[in-house]
Order: sequence, then structure tokens, then C-alpha cells
Amino acid sequence: MTGIPENIIEEVVARSDIVSVVGEYVRFTKTSGQNQFGLCPFHSEDTPSFSVSITKQIYYCFGCHKGGNVINFIMEIEKLTYPEAIRLLAERVQVSIPEPQDDGYRIVAEKRDAIRAALLDAARYFYKSLQSSQGARAKDYIKKRELSESTVRTFGLGYAPDSRDGLYRYLKEKNYSDEVIDECGLFTRSKRGDRVDLFRGRLMFPIFDTMGKIIAFGGRTILTDGMPKYINSPETAVYSKKSTLYALNFAKAVREKTLIIVEGYMDVISMYQAGVKNVVATLGTALTEKQMTLASRYAEELILFYDSDRAGQEAAVRGLRLLMAKMASQSTLQVRLSVGRVPDGKDPDQFIREHGAEAFRRVAADAAPVMAYLIGVAETQSTIDGRFDPRVYQEMACTFLSWETNAINRERFAGKVAERLGVSVASVLQEVVRTESQSKNSEPVRFRSGAEREQDMAPIPTDTMYASADEIRFIGMISMLPEAYIKLPDRPLPQDFSQGNMREIATNVFMLAAQGQIDVNKLLEISSDMTLNGKPAKDYFSRMIMKSSVGALTDEVIDIFINLLYRIRFETYKQRKKTLVESLSGNLSDQERVRNQALLREIEQYLKYLRQQIRPDEPDTM
Ligand SMILES: [Zn+2]
Repeated sequence: MTGIPENIIEEVVARSDIVSVVGEYVRFTKTSGQNQFGLCPFHSEDTPSFSVSITKQIYYCFGCHKGGNVINFIMEIEKLTYPEAIRLLAERVQVSIPEPQDDGYRIVAEKRDAIRAALLDAARYFYKSLQSSQGARAKDYIKKRELSESTVRTFGLGYAPDSRDGLYRYLKEKNYSDEVIDECGLFTRSKRGDRVDLFRGRLMFPIFDTMGKIIAFGGRTILTDGMPKYINSPETAVYSKKSTLYALNFAKAVREKTLIIVEGYMDVISMYQAGVKNVVATLGTALTEKQMTLASRYAEELILFYDSDRAGQEAAVRGLRLLMAKMASQSTLQVRLSVGRVPDGKDPDQFIREHGAEAFRRVAADAAPVMAYLIGVAETQSTIDGRFDPRVYQEMACTFLSWETNAINRERFAGKVAERLGVSVASVLQEVVRTESQSKNSEPVRFRSGAEREQDMAPIPTDTMYASADEIRFIGMISMLPEAYIKLPDRPLPQDFSQGNMREIATNVFMLAAQGQIDVNKLLEISSDMTLNGKPAKDYFSRMIMKSSVGALTDEVIDIFINLLYRIRFETYKQRKKTLVESLSGNLSDQERVRNQALLREIEQYLKYLRQQIRPDEPDTM
């Protein structure tokens, strides 16, 4: 029993064209008579055996033998119950369903509807505020970014006034319940427990699902108040960040074979306005597996553009490693990955405003295969102050090559590395195999500054099992609120943590956090065989997690993260200082002495800075 009248179900099915519904998930590559073929979304395959019949309005896979009608398809792919699938389809074709008598699903579905309705009303509130006198500064910003009135409307841009609870009061007037208000991701609680607007003084970007419904918001501050530049809504019942691509609802409509993937909303919007419409954004993370799978339904080639600064490169490399592993393990992913590079280290946004769409298309056409990009990263990272360090280059390039599972590609790029090092291809390949067998479970490639690298030369005498309470707390909190990792203005690094087990845990956690894939269970898995301070690491973390109550990622919580990070850094740099001081009283060449003294001054300054930032008192709950 669905609780939905039979004639309504018939109408929903009749109005839902299976080809266009399935087309949201499967890219059809072949037509045979009345049938469309594409790669099956339910099993791994290299040649398309999944077919949809236009005339019969059913689907069937000749590989895994799954088949059914449009409702079965939605149930299977969205993991929904029968009535939920009907509701989703009904919404799509705008058939209204009379109230069912009972059923638990109704409550869930209604709540999701109510959340979406509240988000839509919030978007209206933001839009109206932008058009009012309050929105003057946001309008100035829009003007400065040269966005047209029609672009503002297409993307539904708005302004969240710098008011404590303006949106809250607006939604209350519209009779939304506090339950819905608490779950739509737009509010936090003040210290006194009142609901306050999460987004204040920000230019607002609605985030849409593939069907064009608003499911979340991003906001860019336009005040000069030292707040994080961008913040996004937290995950909710209708929004999962790692499986959402911003503007995919627009990009899929142009049906191009390539999809350009950038990092920010503004990049997408500028490019769209300039006429490059096959573009989406990852909402601040490196591309996740889920996003890649989603994108691959709409395009044959994905061209990634990353920030060209050091942090951007680092995130790119971590992300690419996971994507390469995913592609190697799943042959249904028939998508080509390339990495584009905007000249002079500019943002795509900036570039397209200066040079126009045609110039950008040429840049996109020049995108390099992933491995070529990685080898380029090894080159940049191993050249410091114009000095090329072949040892670092070799280490990085061989690690990157070990991720390449295609033997032909591997040999091709090994040739380039061999040439750069002036050695034989055979010796590079041999080294790659050695790296591969060594690095099964070890830490990913580390990026190190010159100073950092010097430090690593001298072993720091610390207990490899040592971990401070702050370190444990920080890692536990990141696992509960992984979105904090990318929102922190000052990105935590594994090197900030104590050597040994703690640093290994931090390395793994940050790698997964960059992908939005860390959670409490993963953390316990990572640390399951490790010891900290003589006790099982997972006991420490379990306790910490049990004791914490996880709330939303508010500015206050971000502050707690930053404070913890600064305290952790303070301890680590104190250790480094100690080692340096000791080295200065030993036997050093003049050159080393000068260098260590300079390093010591740098570290002392940083310690002084940290001491000024750190708050001693730390509230115990999040
Ligand atoms: Zn199949």
C-alpha cells in the first residue's frame, strides 16, 4: 500500500518520460532502433549494455539483468521506497499528491519538502534584501565583478543583511516550525540559546540540486570584518556536499562533451555569463569520488582547474590520488580526467573577465592528462629559490608514477622523469615499483617548505607515541565536523602534530577530510592498531567523541578549532626551537650556522605571534 491513489500513480508514470528521467543518471552513447544504450549505473562494465526503451518506457540491463519501469529505476538508483520514488517523480512532473492517510515516509518526505520550501523562502528574502537599500554594498560588489542583472537573476543571488535574526523572524512569520528552521542549516544558537542567522553581511549564492531546486547556500562576506571569506550551509536532510556540484543543473542543459570543474561560485558565474556554460564548482573541496561519478554521467571529459597556490596544489594532489584509485578500481567510470592551467596563476574568473570566453576555451583545450600535471607539480615542488633538488623530484615523481595503473601511461611519463634526471627509463620504473611496494600504507607525499625540509634532516628526539590532549581533541573534532578542515583560514598540516603515530593519524585524517570523507568510524579504523601515550589510540578518540556533542559549524566552533590548532603549533614549534638551539651549540659549518640562526629567528617570531593569539581557557563542549 502506498497511500497514493492508483490514478495518481498512473498519471505520474505517464508524465515521466523514462528516457529523460534515466538520462539524469546515465549518459546514452548509442541508439539502436527505439532503444537508447549507455553504461549501466548498477554494475561495472566497459561497453554499454544498459538500455532504455522509448516506446515501452522500461529499462533493462543485458549485463546484470536489472530492469523495470521508471519508478523501479528511481527506487533502485536513489535507494528509495516505492511511495518515496513516486513522490520524487510527482514533484518532477508537477503532479500533486493528496494527503495519504498514514505511513512513516510521509513524515520524512514532508519534512524534506518543508525544508526545501523554507530554503526557497530564504532565497526570496535574500533576493529582496539585495534589491533593497540594505543590499547597496553587495550591489557594489556585484557591479565590481561585472555581473549583469540577468546573471544575478539566473543564479538567484541575494544578500543576507548584517542582522542578528532577520531571516529567523521572516521564516517565523511564514509559519515555519522551529523543527524545520533548525534543520534547514541557516541558523546557529547564541550562547543564550536563541536562534541567530548563520549568514550575515554576505552575498548569497543558492546551491541547486540537478533538478534546479535550492538545497543549500553559500555566502561570501562583503564586510571587512575578518570573518571567513566564504561559508557554506552545513549538511542537511536535503544537502550532501560531497555529492553536489554547484551549477550542474545549468551545465547539464548545454550537453557538451566536456565539463569544466572549478573551485568557486564566482568562477562558475563569470564563465557562464561570458558564454562558457559547461562549468560547475566543487564547493570548496577537491573533486570527490561521488562528484566525479555524478559528473561522468553528463560528460566524457572532466577538466579540473585548481588554485595554483601551494595549498591548492596540495589539495589537488591528494584528491587526484583518490580519484585515480577509484578509476582504476571501477571500470564503469569511463571518463577522462584532465587538469587545466590558467596562465599567470590567475583564477578562471579573473582570466575570463580579462580575456574572454574564446581565450578560455583555448586554455581548456590545452588541459593536460593528470599524470602530466602531477609530474609538473613534482618539478615545482622540488625547485626552491631556483635550485632544483633531484632527490626530492625523484621521490615525488616516482610516488606519482606509482599511482598510475595504466602501464603505457606509466612508461610514457617515466620517460619524461628519466630525461629530467638524466638516467635510464628502466631505473625510474624500477624505483617506481620499489616506491609502490613500500608505500602500501604509508603517508602520502608531503609538501615541505625549505625550512621544513632542513628540519627533517636532523632527527627530533621525541617519543613517537606522544600525543597531547589538544591534538587528540582537534583530530576528534575534525572527524565529527569534517567541513571545518577546509573552512579553517589556516589549514592544519600533519607537520603541526607530534611525530610518530599522532602525525600518521593526522596525515590520514586530513587527506580524508579534504575529500569530505572522514567520519568518526573512519578515524577509529585509522587509529585501530596504534598506541598513544601507552594506550590504544582508539580508546582516546572514542572517549573524546563520546563526551562531545556535535553541533553546527558556527563561527564560534571555527574559533575553537583555530585556538586548538594554535596551541598545538605552539608546542611543536617550541620543540623545533629547542632542537635548533641545541644544534647551534654543536659543531656546525659557517653556512649551517647562519642558516640555523635565521631559522631560529623565524621560529621565535612565529612563537611570539602564536602566544598573542592563544586563549588559555577552552570551553569543554563544542
Ligand atoms: Zn547492469
